[in-house]
Amino acid sequence: MADRFFQNEMPDFLQENPNIIEEEPTENRERVQIHPQGTRDSLLRFLSLPYSSLSPQLQRAALDLKQTILVETWGLSGRIVKDYSLYAGTLGTAYLLFKSFQVTGMNGVRDVTFLCGRAGVCALGAVAAKHVDNCKLFDYYLSQFKEIKPSKDLQDELLYGRAGYLWTCLFLNKHFGKDTIPAPYMGDIVKEIIRNGRELGKQGRCPLMFEWHGERYWGAAHGLAGIMHVLMEFELTSDELEDVKGTLKYMISRRLPSGNYPAGEEDKKHDALVHWCHGAPGVTLTLVKAAEVFGEREFLKAAMDAAEVVWNRGLLKRLGICHGISGNAYAFLALYRLTGIVEYLYRAKAFACFLLDRAHILMSMGEMHGGDNPFSLFEGVGGMAHLFLDMVQPKNARFPAYEL
Ligand SMILES: [Zn+2]
Repeated sequence: MADRFFQNEMPDFLQENPNIIEEEPTENRERVQIHPQGTRDSLLRFLSLPYSSLSPQLQRAALDLKQTILVETWGLSGRIVKDYSLYAGTLGTAYLLFKSFQVTGMNGVRDVTFLCGRAGVCALGAVAAKHVDNCKLFDYYLSQFKEIKPSKDLQDELLYGRAGYLWTCLFLNKHFGKDTIPAPYMGDIVKEIIRNGRELGKQGRCPLMFEWHGERYWGAAHGLAGIMHVLMEFELTSDELEDVKGTLKYMISRRLPSGNYPAGEEDKKHDALVHWCHGAPGVTLTLVKAAEVFGEREFLKAAMDAAEVVWNRGLLKRLGICHGISGNAYAFLALYRLTGIVEYLYRAKAFACFLLDRAHILMSMGEMHGGDNPFSLFEGVGGMAHLFLDMVQPKNARFPAYEL
């Protein structure tokens, strides 16, 4: 009879390795697996991580699981409880939520952004309520949004930080008028971001620099591209504009030899990721924005160069918006919108048609990753559907929660 247990081949004890982050920063990388999991090496790597690096990974995995569990056991059930028990039913979900509250606190940093926070729920809720003329619901969502305030210790990036909060404000103003969230209120947060960026920028050659969980990222999700993209939506002073411009030029001048953009400062030799979150696709969208705002040929040229990388290496074995073919197609759509050059529309169409033709087949054969959250907008088929809808009216296409 087969053993009832796995042979425990893990070392009896393994000293933590404080250098492991510098060697291979994988923490908080949008769950992109640079190193395949399920191998002896990957397990040893977890065991060697300093506790301070491992615990955020465990927390993130737990919070992601918590969301899935909540949807499966409460959301999808229509809140009809079949089993009340803590052992196997709904009380177990409640207990898990309470544990999460104890560990992360009620108002965790995840609250403030459009992409990953309650702010997004309130903002989209308000827009949807307005569309169906439900004033009471609209007031409710807007007042709920206004109760969300970025805390002092918040970081600056897009997914969980100040830039993501500001994006939500811009989204509301776009839909309800420019004073829905007053400019001076947003301006204070813009200044705070610039101040933080300059402070860290002093240590190097880039005018503005930011850290997220100890890493100086460049990409759209957690780094410079995302933060600059949001800053360019605001009326900045001339010296602030110069710093934004200087930051983008710093990135352009230090891009990888292939034309791709590294995930971060510490990663300048690592040319692997061609994603919206990390790499050329997200940077393309920001450079298109820069070309619009500054009107300088250099930004348009750099955006076209980055889009070339997306064309050559962006047909990923993943389909989502964040790190997949669907998201990468938006690099071409942004350039098409800006330039009207029909070849860019063709390239977006080519990526969309590739998905239309074979995404399901490739996924069923296991040759394409359907996403850790397979029906989600940013990782799963939701993103593909969003792209298809944008291809119906390509001039109006916008990368969700990034291009206004
Ligand atoms: Zn991603």
